[in-house]
Amino acid sequence: MNDRLRPARAAWIVLPAVVLGVVLYARGGDGSAIVALLAGTTAAFLAGLSCLATSRTMPGRHRAGWLLLALAGISWGAGNTFWLWQEFFSAQTTLFPSPADYGFLIFPVAAAVGLGLLSGRSMLGSSVAPVLDGIVVAGALFLVLWSVSMRDIWAAGGESPLAYAVSLAYPIGDLVSATMALLLMTRARGRRSVVALLVAAMLGMGLADTLFAVGSADGTYVSGSWFDYGWVAGFVFLALAARRAAGRAVVVDTGTGVHRWQLLLPYLPFVVAVGVEGAGAYAGRLLDPAELFAVLLILGSLLARQLLVLLSHTSLTERLRFEASHDTLTGLANRKYFARLVDRRVASADAPVGLLHINLDHFAWVNDRLGDDVGDQLLRQAGERMAVSGQAARLSGDVFAVLVSGDLITTAEQLADAMRAPFSVGPHTVGITVSIGAAETTTSGPELRKMADLALQAAKDNGKDTISPYAPTMRTRLDREMTLRTELEAAVAQGLLQVAYQPIVKLPTAEMSGVEALARWRHPALGDVSPAEFIAVAERTGLIHELGACILEQACAEMAGLSRTGGFYVSVNVSTLQLLDPAFPARVARVLLDTGFDPARLVLEVTESVLADEAQVTTALQRLRSLGPRIAIDDFGSGYASLRYLHRFPADIVKIDRSYLEDSGAGSFIRSLIELFHSLGLTVVAEGVEEDAQSRMLSEAGSDLAQGYLFGRPMPARELAVVESRLAA
Ligand code: C2E
Ligand code: CA
Ligand code: CA
Repeated sequence: MNDRLRPARAAWIVLPAVVLGVVLYARGGDGSAIVALLAGTTAAFLAGLSCLATSRTMPGRHRAGWLLLALAGISWGAGNTFWLWQEFFSAQTTLFPSPADYGFLIFPVAAAVGLGLLSGRSMLGSSVAPVLDGIVVAGALFLVLWSVSMRDIWAAGGESPLAYAVSLAYPIGDLVSATMALLLMTRARGRRSVVALLVAAMLGMGLADTLFAVGSADGTYVSGSWFDYGWVAGFVFLALAARRAAGRAVVVDTGTGVHRWQLLLPYLPFVVAVGVEGAGAYAGRLLDPAELFAVLLILGSLLARQLLVLLSHTSLTERLRFEASHDTLTGLANRKYFARLVDRRVASADAPVGLLHINLDHFAWVNDRLGDDVGDQLLRQAGERMAVSGQAARLSGDVFAVLVSGDLITTAEQLADAMRAPFSVGPHTVGITVSIGAAETTTSGPELRKMADLALQAAKDNGKDTISPYAPTMRTRLDREMTLRTELEAAVAQGLLQVAYQPIVKLPTAEMSGVEALARWRHPALGDVSPAEFIAVAERTGLIHELGACILEQACAEMAGLSRTGGFYVSVNVSTLQLLDPAFPARVARVLLDTGFDPARLVLEVTESVLADEAQVTTALQRLRSLGPRIAIDDFGSGYASLRYLHRFPADIVKIDRSYLEDSGAGSFIRSLIELFHSLGLTVVAEGVEEDAQSRMLSEAGSDLAQGYLFGRPMPARELAVVESRLAA
């Protein structure tokens, strides 16, 4: 505890005081006077030293503040020491004013300035407000003090002008310290215990001073009165405040809010003053000039303060209005406010109004890789660049909008170019592209916004980094999507999807080896919806998990019942979303259990694009395989399959995409591909075989199995048996 007053040092003050007390008592002094005087002196010095120790741990104005409080305590202690000497050792009659009085009078001045330095800024944020508060508090306290003691002191006059001034200085000093204490309370935030102790100290001092003044005025005061302990208590509180504050610079923290009662505090003395003056008026006494002056001063200050509150309210309202209509991160207009701007612009314009909706491509990736802070800064900088093109807004996360004044597409292209320049965010250089939906219309604001939205959707679907001008077909596409979403959900829930089975045959015998299960949806109004379309919808809505499970269950159930011959295998398509679902393997196990289907006869087809997410997918595939099914890589060669990953992939079968067969010169290429697959231990299925020639070529190239219209189209389960025997023939 290096930064607090150490007990050893405190003992240097307490011990002599005790010794002195004993000596004085032995000399026949008045016991209660001795104790009160010595206690006051000791407490004052201790408080002074405590404040001194604390000031040394503080920076800047806090150091000065505590230093002044130390001065206040020590000077008061010195004054009281002199008083003590005068009372017990001096033969002279008590002189007035004496050095003791100067010691006492330094206290309120030093304490007031010290407290001023420790307190923070007022709620109203201006330096005028605390002065006004001070005037209100001081004026009210003056009214009270005036009727309690000052009026009499004033009327009594003094033996000399100096004595007169000093006797008036006492109540004024009390006034000042009480005012400071109250003001401190109105602004105290943060370390409340320290503030509370300081206020208690000032109140103790003020109370004892006032009672002393009253007692002195009517000549009833003697040393050792009970209220002498007000001083003792005051200094004890001051010492404690200093100890608590040691090492922590913030006494009054402006970061947190103040309580409502604190804002009302300056009015409290005013209420008391009104009470006191009211009582005077009731007794038939008129206001004297001093009181009148104080009342006018208070009223003037209250008026000015009210004005200040009003002013700060208007600026606050303005700020709130701005915040309600703008995005806090980028400072651009927010969605709600921007919608109003668009509506207004369209309503007032006679030419078409242009609007761009802009999405930052791969923003989520940047956010994940480089952190939210970088993401935020990127959004801010992107917003700045957008604002160059026109009135800009941030609609949500990484979606912006710009209201265009010039040519729509030219502006969009300029904006896209501007965004292409790398952003430097802290230590990173980030390059991004944008997808832009562009629309213009004269119809209405909401219409324009919807068009831009649809266009943006199309731009993103078109593979990002593109500008899509709005086209009416986008709306039909959206309507179709909406219909499919609701209808598909109902169909899955009611079990209306069916499974068609397409034969997979051995080469060259064309004997049936397996079937691929393919989802079918015949809608009463929409007719047959192609799986390519509804599977994509199901993937966008997340319905794919439910749908996939239904197909798997139906396929296993139907084929389990059909396996008279010991059976061909069943290949079921699994979407990547299903594969990445941690609950998927358990679902598969459940279906196998429920249907009693032999796991060794099940093949799960995953598209080749999963090769890209190697790490995540490998574990999922391994878990699935451990349940018994084999894994097939579907559509190999249709996309960007990487041969590099293939050998590390836990797969059993590979299906060569039918696009290879469309190219008649691809024979030797297919042959080497098949050789490669065989070297990796994979069984090869060739897809999309429609002609005899293709079948022969594949057979010569070494393909194990084949699938295509040549051998059979996807068909209901009940037709399979017929086809099976036809193929076997
Ligand atoms: P896929 O997995 O590549 O399925 C083969 C698709 O090729 C089927 O189209 C099939 O009818 C078609 N096909 C078969 N032989 C020939 C042929 O000789 N020539 C031509 N031109 N086409 C042939 P379908 O049934 O329309 O399925 C389309 C896609 O929908 C499937 O492609 C698959 O990716 C997806 N799909 C179908 N059912 C499901 C399912 O239950 N779950 C998931 N996740 N996807 C499914
Ligand atoms: Ca397939
Ligand atoms: Ca396929």
